[in-house]
This record gives sequence, structure tokens and C-alpha cells, in this order.
Amino acid sequence: MPDLIIHSAAQLITIQGEGPKYGAAQGDLGIFEDGAVAVNGQDILAVGITNEIRALADGETQFLDATGCVVLPGFVDAHTHAVFAGDRANEFEMRLRGASYLELMKAGGGIMSTVRATRAASVEQIIAQTRARLDRMLVYGTTTAEIKTGYGLDTATELKLLEAISEVAATHPIDLVPTFIGAHAIPEEYQGHGDAFTDLVVNEMLPAVSEWQKSSMLHMRLFCDVFCDEGAFNVEQSRRILTRAQEQGLALKIHADEFANLGGARLAAELRAVSADHLMVTRREEMKQMAEAGVIAVLLPGTTFGLGKYDFANGRAFIEEGVAVALGTDLNPGTSWCESMPMMLAIATRYEKLTIAEAIVAATLNAAYASGVGERVGSLQPGKQADILIANVPDYRYLAYQYGTNPIRAVVKRGKVIRQ
Ligand SMILES: [Zn+2]
Repeated sequence: MPDLIIHSAAQLITIQGEGPKYGAAQGDLGIFEDGAVAVNGQDILAVGITNEIRALADGETQFLDATGCVVLPGFVDAHTHAVFAGDRANEFEMRLRGASYLELMKAGGGIMSTVRATRAASVEQIIAQTRARLDRMLVYGTTTAEIKTGYGLDTATELKLLEAISEVAATHPIDLVPTFIGAHAIPEEYQGHGDAFTDLVVNEMLPAVSEWQKSSMLHMRLFCDVFCDEGAFNVEQSRRILTRAQEQGLALKIHADEFANLGGARLAAELRAVSADHLMVTRREEMKQMAEAGVIAVLLPGTTFGLGKYDFANGRAFIEEGVAVALGTDLNPGTSWCESMPMMLAIATRYEKLTIAEAIVAATLNAAYASGVGERVGSLQPGKQADILIANVPDYRYLAYQYGTNPIRAVVKRGKVIRQ
């Protein structure tokens, strides 16, 4: 009956359970020593001790020996801006010399330089560049990723980015969860006219996105996200955009409390957003509101690191307040060009004070729920999609302890061994 059995793992990390994990359960890895997982078709058939799982085999079953290794669910990257053209290596070098992110934005650099490059690129060029990034993500064990538009900032280019995401999603092994973030920044042609640009997002872009969705081959729920922060969108503008998106049936995310606390986390709780992301300057009372509303905190330690800053999100406090914590790379050309979820484990454990086990749950099951796909991926349990990693490490702690090298030896995606 099973097509594939991965067996003899030093540790099989299952992370089984219902719903996102929070509080004490956030560190619940569900480990089997000498573990094995049986796969049938695209799905997981059974998990357990090697002897029991091997007994399920028949003459057709293939075996993959994980002796001395850790087997775990594929990583889910809960927050990426992976679809863009060009790079900002020049800006990175300027920033190292002392220019701040907001200064670079005001000088016409920053996000607008990526917007200009993305508007100028063909959809084929954008697809080719995005695919190369996803290939590297897969090597580091990412099997599902959320992916945002937001480098168009006009209706035509935002639709071009959705088209690119849809094409890559249909042809790349990584499962993609698309997010529309037309309100990623106020474009230069609307500088000083944030309300007018908000009108454009609400009255033109969101309806166009709905129309596009009806004709697209992406048959999944879209997310809508807004960058609610100083220099971007205020709470009132963010509320208008997210409320309209919700009326159109989109699920909600929000970039909140990265530079300044405008009340973005409170807005996420008020609108019952699926996630609020960044959260470096969120207050305890707002964490409580997020916990009550079931909003997942997506922490992005690569961004703080990428900016050479020290104000990491207080992951420990979110867990103490009962908020489910997820992780993402924030892969983007300006502040965090990182394609490696193991690197996020390394930083989140050291600077956001997550335990190693909590960080692994954050990078798998909770990231899956933050991306709206927690019922399908993020843990190893019967009936879920067989997205499985074999890591060449003797126990799970090495996944954060060692860093800068790739621990992933093999990737199984939808039941097929696609990297070994
Ligand atoms: Zn972001």
C-alpha cells in the first residue's frame, strides 16, 4: 500500500495537532525516536516507530533510509516578496555607510527603485527571476511559501505580478500562497497624496483583482495585505483597504509595528486578520488582543538582521501572551534577501528568544496556518500532504545550533523525492 517509507530517523518530528500551536504547545514537536513515515500518493499514510511502519510495506514500496538524520515537515515560509525584478545591492552598500531605510525612501531609492525595475520588466523576465529564487528556497527545505505582489503599485503591474505568481505556482514544486499588497508603499506619483492612492487601491485595484481571480488558474483564496507604518499607510487608510478586501472575500494580513506603532496590531485584532507581521514594537496589551482574536504573529528576524539593526521582535512575549508565532524570511531585495528558513531558526532562537522547538513549530505548522493552508501542510500526520525533509543532523537542536550551512539532505514534495 505505501509508495514510499522513510525510516530509521534518529528523530521524526511530527508536530501533530489541530490548529496553530500557541502558549506551552508552541514547543510541542511530537518526536518519535527511530521514527518512520509512510507515504501513499501525495499524502501521508502513517507515522510512528520504524518497525511498525515498515510492517505496512508491500512489494511495490520504495524505501528511503534516514539513519542518523532528523525527518521533519517541509518548511513553510509565511512571508515573502519573492516576485520582483532587479536588485538593490547599491542601496545595501549605501546603507552600510549610514543611510537609513526611511532616508533612502525619501531620496527616491528604496522600494521605488524595485517598483521602477518591476514595471519595466516583462512578465517572462519576472517569472524567470522568481523561479530561480524559489529553486534556492527549495534547496533549503521550503516546500510552501506565501508570496506577495506590491512592486507594481499600479493596477496593470499588480495584475502582471499576480499573473507571474500564477504561472510560477503552476510549474514550480513549491506550493505558493498569493497575496495582493497594492498598498505596499505610496508610489512616487502619489507622494503626499496617500488618501488618493488609497482610493485607487479600494476603487480600482481591488475590483480588478477580483475580476482577475475569476479568470485565473489559481483556485485558492487570495490574501490582501497592507503596509501600515510610518511613511506608508496610516490606520484609517489600512482599515479602508482591508475592510473592502474582506467584503470581496479576501483573507487579511497586515505589515504592522515594524518602524512605528501606529496601531496596526490592534487593527489586525479588530478585523480578525489571519496574521499580523513584523511586530517589532508591539505592546503587551496589543499582543493580548491578538491572542483573543486568534491573529497569528508572523515574525521576520531576517529583516532586523538584514538591516543591521538590534530591535528584534520579542517572540518570547508573544508566546507568553498566548499568540501563535510563525516565521518567514521576508525575502525581498531591500531589507532581507534571504531564501533560507534554517537561517530564520538561527536568528529567531538567538534574538527573538524562541526556544528551538518553538521556532521549528513557527517555521512549519504555524507558518502554514498563517498562510491559510494549515489543514493541508505543516505537520506530518496521516491525511496531510507528504511534504517532508530529511535533515543531515543527529537531533533537532542542530537545526538552529549550526547555521550558515544547509542541513537539508532530501526534499519530498507531494510524495515525490525531488531533491536528494
Ligand atoms: Zn513584508
